[in-house]
Amino acid sequence: MTATEFETPMARLRDLIEGARAIVPFTGAGISTECGIPDFRSPGGVWTKNQPIPFDEFMASREQRDESWRRRFVMEDKFGGARPGRGHRALASLYRAGKVPGLITQNIDNLHQASGIAADDVVELHGNTTYALCLDCGEHYELGWVREKFEAAGQHAPDCACGGYIKTATISFGQAMPVAAMERAEQLTKACDLFLAIGSSLVVWPAAGFPLMAKRNGASLVIINREPTEFDELADLVVNDDIGDVLSPFIGH
Ligand SMILES: [Zn+2]
Repeated sequence: MTATEFETPMARLRDLIEGARAIVPFTGAGISTECGIPDFRSPGGVWTKNQPIPFDEFMASREQRDESWRRRFVMEDKFGGARPGRGHRALASLYRAGKVPGLITQNIDNLHQASGIAADDVVELHGNTTYALCLDCGEHYELGWVREKFEAAGQHAPDCACGGYIKTATISFGQAMPVAAMERAEQLTKACDLFLAIGSSLVVWPAAGFPLMAKRNGASLVIINREPTEFDELADLVVNDDIGDVLSPFIGH
């Protein structure tokens, strides 16, 4: 019997966080569900009824670009007012305390930035849906501007002045993973001594490779998720519980 067996999971989590030099949180949809944003990949989620539009179809068809934007504005009306939850606020507290050099997320909802983590320190593996970019020249567009043009044109998506297509800054199915973000995520993962996988089912590759990479580089691995994951056996600590409940003691540290 080891000493850790006498500790509660929460006490063990606190010890690991207090003892860590560099913590890298890796977050998935589960951290944002308490903010009212559903996990689109879950059974019964939006994606099981409304298949996402793959990148090649977006590029090939004006109808698909229009449809993609129409759906985006429906989402905006439903979830655009979402605010950071307890998990976001706890991680922002650890960041302000200098324990978190950077955070990796599969989420596209901008809630880590909204909680106070500098945008440069949020590594977004799947991009960001709260603004748009021209796919050719990289020009930045606000969603409000796109919507105004979209509605004025009878539900047709505007193009950039350069002729390029304007798309939310997300990574669609079939679109290349962002090279700089993947490199930064790898650097953070290899340099940390505590990797916190939070609210991710850890099934989407290549993102799911990071917990494994952290563990192989000698970091402790903690998995906080409502449901078990296939990496649970590798982890130093697994907490299958509500993410907001588990992380709220760290708010304000
Ligand atoms: Zn352009």
